[in-house]
Amino acid sequence: MSVLEKITSEGAIALEDKYGAHNYHPLPVVLSRGEGVFVWDVEGKKYYDFLSAYSAVNQGHCHPKIVGAMVNQAQTLTLTSRAFYNDVLGRFEKYATETFKFDKLLPMNTGAEAVETALKICRKWAYEKKGIPENQAQIIVCKNNFHGRTTTIISFSNDPVARKNFGPFTEGFIKIEYDSLQALEEALENNSNVAGFLVEPIQGEAGVYVPSEGYLAGAKALCEKHGVLFIADEVQTGIARTGRLLATCGNCSCADKHCSGTPEIKPDVLILGKALSGGAYPVSAVLANDDIMGVIRPGNHGSTFGGNPIAAAVGMAALDVIKNEELAQNAFKLGELFRSELHKFVEGSTIVNAVRGKGLLNAILINDTEESSTAWDICMALKENGLLAKPTHGNIIRFAPPLVMNKEQLLDCISIITRTLQQFEK
Ligand SMILES: *Cc1c(COP(=O)(O)O)cnc(C)c1O
Repeated sequence: MSVLEKITSEGAIALEDKYGAHNYHPLPVVLSRGEGVFVWDVEGKKYYDFLSAYSAVNQGHCHPKIVGAMVNQAQTLTLTSRAFYNDVLGRFEKYATETFKFDKLLPMNTGAEAVETALKICRKWAYEKKGIPENQAQIIVCKNNFHGRTTTIISFSNDPVARKNFGPFTEGFIKIEYDSLQALEEALENNSNVAGFLVEPIQGEAGVYVPSEGYLAGAKALCEKHGVLFIADEVQTGIARTGRLLATCGNCSCADKHCSGTPEIKPDVLILGKALSGGAYPVSAVLANDDIMGVIRPGNHGSTFGGNPIAAAVGMAALDVIKNEELAQNAFKLGELFRSELHKFVEGSTIVNAVRGKGLLNAILINDTEESSTAWDICMALKENGLLAKPTHGNIIRFAPPLVMNKEQLLDCISIITRTLQQFEK
């Protein structure tokens, strides 16, 4: 069958159903084109994308600068492996480390790989720099985390669906309550084998849980006090999504006027993915300073595709777009507008309990049980009304449009969302 042959939505879904593993439960919409904040299905219906591929498409669909860089590099040199140098990787590493203010970058492809990389760096640092006895290092993680799908990462997940029958699991992790400095302090006290604390600045998959003011700075201070690495997984929150270049921002060069004045929460290890490529290509990275990244020596770690010329070219273009189009500032402004308008709706609503989020990473809590189909039904109605979003954890709907949205489009979306929710009022 040719890829150019016309296919209906039903036809495409039937193919995936018959020939694909059933590891996802997608909304029944088949997309064939995207541009900016919009996507189109195979029948030509146009939608606002309010998921942005889980915040990978922050720069908007098919951004011409990112696609241009990718096509240009694809026609020149695609892959050398790291057995040889290529003439793009170093430039990307310089650009990214200057942007995020770290000494070094280690390139990978997917978010999960970058998390794995950070865990390996942390453990090696613990043995070689902190002096933890071999094989004794422990890393603190948070309940309800989402860091990816590898066997080690699911070892410290508490989602039964992600874990069941995938054991045995990797040891060396301590799980504590999210957003609790007391829990972190207790886990650090009297345990000299703790090497790191891995945390999402906002728990995205868990349902956009924004921690209390001061939590991240407090956690960083506790890590410093105990000589433990603060590892920020900004795969979803990073790259302007939450209204700053990073959700842990405070020491960045994004020139965002909303950035300054906050306590500096510079992670020891920063994990990026998703929007690091603007959704064009799998590009992820771990950033750290020399005293930490220096533990990685030739042969310790690697990836055939990590740091390939296309990824490097795409990564540079993707960061360029964020800066040139001031997407952090735009996400900040539009996020304020989105939440204030939805707050107004929530006040008189029986179907929505709350709206929360930061920048353009937001969620609404549906007034029904996790087991109910209400959130799914609302997403189906939103789809009918021209807006695509997906429930997370049964009764929470995440709203994360591309950051290239303008105010007029956002007001249009708010109107679609509130009109749709109105249909579900009891
Ligand atoms: C998506 C995500 C990952 C995993 O990224 P993949 O590219 O899907 O492997 C890790 N951490 C967080 C916070 C994420 O949102």
